[in-house]
Amino acid sequence: MFDLLIRNGKVVTPETVLEADVAVQGERIAGLLKTAEPVQAREVIDARGLYVVPGGIDAHVHFDMEFLGQSKHTFESGTIAAAFGGTTTIIDFTLDLKTLGGPLLDAVEKRREKAEGKAVIDFAFHCVVNDGGDDTLRELEQVVAYGVPSFKMFTVYREVNLYVNDATVYNVMERLRDLGGIAAVHTENADIVDYCTARLLAAGQRTPVHYPQSRPTFTEVECIRRVLFLARSARAAVYVVHIAAGEAVAAVRQARAEGRPVYGETCPHYLVLTKAMYARPDGYNYVMSPPLRTEADNEALWEGLAGGWLATVSSDDNSVDVEDKRAGAESFDRASPGCVDVETRIPLLFSEGVVKRRLPITRLVQVASTNPARIFGLYPRKGVIAAGSDADIVLIDPTARLRVSPQTLHMKVQYSPYEGWDVVGMPVTTISRGKVIVNKGAFLGTPGHGRFLPRAIDPAVLQAPV
Ligand SMILES: [Zn+2]
Repeated sequence: MFDLLIRNGKVVTPETVLEADVAVQGERIAGLLKTAEPVQAREVIDARGLYVVPGGIDAHVHFDMEFLGQSKHTFESGTIAAAFGGTTTIIDFTLDLKTLGGPLLDAVEKRREKAEGKAVIDFAFHCVVNDGGDDTLRELEQVVAYGVPSFKMFTVYREVNLYVNDATVYNVMERLRDLGGIAAVHTENADIVDYCTARLLAAGQRTPVHYPQSRPTFTEVECIRRVLFLARSARAAVYVVHIAAGEAVAAVRQARAEGRPVYGETCPHYLVLTKAMYARPDGYNYVMSPPLRTEADNEALWEGLAGGWLATVSSDDNSVDVEDKRAGAESFDRASPGCVDVETRIPLLFSEGVVKRRLPITRLVQVASTNPARIFGLYPRKGVIAAGSDADIVLIDPTARLRVSPQTLHMKVQYSPYEGWDVVGMPVTTISRGKVIVNKGAFLGTPGHGRFLPRAIDPAVLQAPV
């Protein structure tokens, strides 16, 4: 007698699609069964016509964050939106301007406290490092031992004291190599970004349409190449967050071809939107860094996903609302940067990727779930439908449609970058550790169901690209 049986669905593994039933016992997957095998279960879900995929893992979100504007999502509302979008695990950051500069482990514990009792799905954190002092380098070990083996560094944002120089990037990478950790780096050339920004503002070229010129493509590509070079020199693994430039894909591809443990992330907005958005009356809503680029960049990112050179698609969700973004109408530097995508990440990958571009659904599963699980030390507990794994399962109806708007989503903001888009293929049921938390538009979960996930990264991930 199983607790839950998902019958007649098309089960998507990272490699293939199977006709199978999925049996769940308690919080775990008991196994895959032949369709219609005569077994009993307390609850049966008929998944005929639906894809049965491992719950999404969004390795880059910012909930309840005060950083150049306050994000609207709490850990409760943000994880509810994530669950509606087919995501069952989020990885947030210790990005809180109040804890920056203090002990790293304190910052982790403070963020954990914010999420405990609120999150409706499981959660983890990346630890932000903004200085390369001896204390910090020593503290890395404690944080890894606590179950947080991934560390975020920013090569920009001097104005809020997040910027780190090349020496810190190098030193932290070298230390993490010995500790079994990984650096996740935001890559833009700060000197040139600051220079271009000041020059545009001084020339009165302040409206959002000028924003992309403040952070030209080469500033991203140069920094990625530099960071990959530093990682090679430190013999360390590296994860490059939110790649927007097509040319950066080539850099990641080359490093991986050399057998180096390099992982590239992109986001739905960089795949499907272009800088044409900045010419709209609400162009300020698209102020984010790096900025949106061109259709050629979109294409190169899709190729990077299909070809296996980019490893993950994350949302970089930062739910700053229109009231904090609108100031950018007069001067782009006054808009709180960020984009909202935690609920639309998997629907857009399905609709724009699987349906429009014939991206194999196995590849969607890899970039949205399996790869983030592997890279960040959650696999095989998460990221796969297999016996013994957590029963984090999502049913996608390939025929379900959604007209995107703030009203049809569960985001706490009054805009969507995709407002008016018609998306086909939607997550309709979301199961977190054996419990159905979203079904056919209804939220059935509970705040506090989500648990903190201590992690340890598989050494194979840190030695060669997986
Ligand atoms: Zn981010």
